[in-house]
Amino acid sequence: MKPADSTPPSLDVNGLVTELQGVERALRDEDGLVAFDPELRYLHWSRRIEEITGVPASRVLGRNAVDLFPSMVENGQVAAVRAALAGRSVASTVQPFHIVRTGHSGVYQARYQPWSNERGTVLAALVVVRDLTDEQRFRQRIEETESRFRNMADHSPVMLWMSGADALRTFFNTTWLAFTGRTLQEELGFGFAEGIHPDDYARYMGSHAAAFGERRVLETEYRLKRADGQWRWVLDRATPRWLPSAEFAGFIGSCLDITARRELESELRQGLRDRDDFLSIASHELMTPLTSLQLSVDAVLRALRSGPDGAMSSTKLIAIAQRASAQSLRLASLVDELLDVSRLSSQRLQLELEETDLAAIAHDVALRVADAAAAAGCVIVETRSPEPVVGNWDSARIQRVIVNLVSNAIKYGAGKPVGIDVRGTPTQAIITVSDHGIGIDEADHSRIFERFERAVSTRNYGGFGLGLWIAREIVSAHLGRIDVASAPGHGATFSVTLDRRAV
Ligand code: ADP
Repeated sequence: MKPADSTPPSLDVNGLVTELQGVERALRDEDGLVAFDPELRYLHWSRRIEEITGVPASRVLGRNAVDLFPSMVENGQVAAVRAALAGRSVASTVQPFHIVRTGHSGVYQARYQPWSNERGTVLAALVVVRDLTDEQRFRQRIEETESRFRNMADHSPVMLWMSGADALRTFFNTTWLAFTGRTLQEELGFGFAEGIHPDDYARYMGSHAAAFGERRVLETEYRLKRADGQWRWVLDRATPRWLPSAEFAGFIGSCLDITARRELESELRQGLRDRDDFLSIASHELMTPLTSLQLSVDAVLRALRSGPDGAMSSTKLIAIAQRASAQSLRLASLVDELLDVSRLSSQRLQLELEETDLAAIAHDVALRVADAAAAAGCVIVETRSPEPVVGNWDSARIQRVIVNLVSNAIKYGAGKPVGIDVRGTPTQAIITVSDHGIGIDEADHSRIFERFERAVSTRNYGGFGLGLWIAREIVSAHLGRIDVASAPGHGATFSVTLDRRAV
């Protein structure tokens, strides 16, 4: 920026103004240009300055700045102009401005510099004024957006991370840091990967790198170490980020702890497997007596059809009918058991309490199972206290408990005697069912009371694995207890203890 060579030391105003217009054209659109002569008179007042201030050039050109705007003395502008006129360049800090006439306010920055001829004589002071209002507002908006994002991210229940275009992690929200119990510095870059389970590490890194390379969404599950040292399953969903210019900027990922969900899923899957197993066992169990029943009915039908000549003796017919009746009783008891399961599973077990004599029930059961015991070659030995053992219980349910225990004793009792003993104390009633059969390994003692749990194979002994579970549920509903004492090959003794006072 230098004036024409011919410029004399005294001011050639016209030539200078022409040059100033050239300077102005070289400036950025948002920059305004003002020039002062050594007497502090306005030499130039650009269009942009007119826009910013709302003051037309015609009002200021040729006039003294201090006369026009006395405040320029206090705010240091005059000193800066004088410095420029003295040959020094000065830049002002960012200053606020408010123009009363236009109501326009904002911030500006000004650069003051001398304008000299080739002999070094300063002819004027140039001031390039930059209105930084929009720029500053823009920066503020970005900062605000950024802080709003961080605030939102930090208060999100979801763990969040961000990576740059080089795949290095640049951000983790506080939810993430609280989860892993590590500092931001430890997690940044690839530090976070130290928290991934060694068995999931290669898989995660591989799929992450592939998705990163292809800039596509990635959803993966892996185990991440929680602050308390526990491995937790997380679902990590990473999405590519794009700048407005469509340039790839990295990924943003969100993670959820899905451990509880996975556990529930596996329980549900197990539940479905149990149900399927149960259905196949149940159909098998129901089919066995049903087939025998069908055979008995067919035999009776054949006898009836063949007329009086080929008629079976009535003794034989009675025997077949008795078998059929036993099979249908077996079916009824199986269906009963199934109904109990559905009632117990849906918590619908309602006790109907009434004065009940345990000794009498035990005796009834002994009579009911007499045929089955005889078929298995078992003798039932009843012992009981002479007095009735009375309590306030649900007699039908207690009967079911005893039926289940005695049926098991017959089933697993190897044809040896089965004992049923009923005793009472003033507060308790105890019924004991014992056999001398195959017995139960100690390791299975508690398991066999659970639903579907069995300690024998289906091939050798039929059954749902429900009898003891039903018994325990009923006894617990009476606030009583059921125990087993047994060893393999030495028989088993099951005892039920009930409270004789009202439940
Ligand atoms: P189920 O007899 O239909 O299998 P239970 O629930 O009545 O079902 O019994 C569970 C398991 O406990 C049986 O499968 C068997 O292994 C064992 N068990 C029950 N009672 C006896 C017993 N008296 N002697 C030996 N094992 C028994």
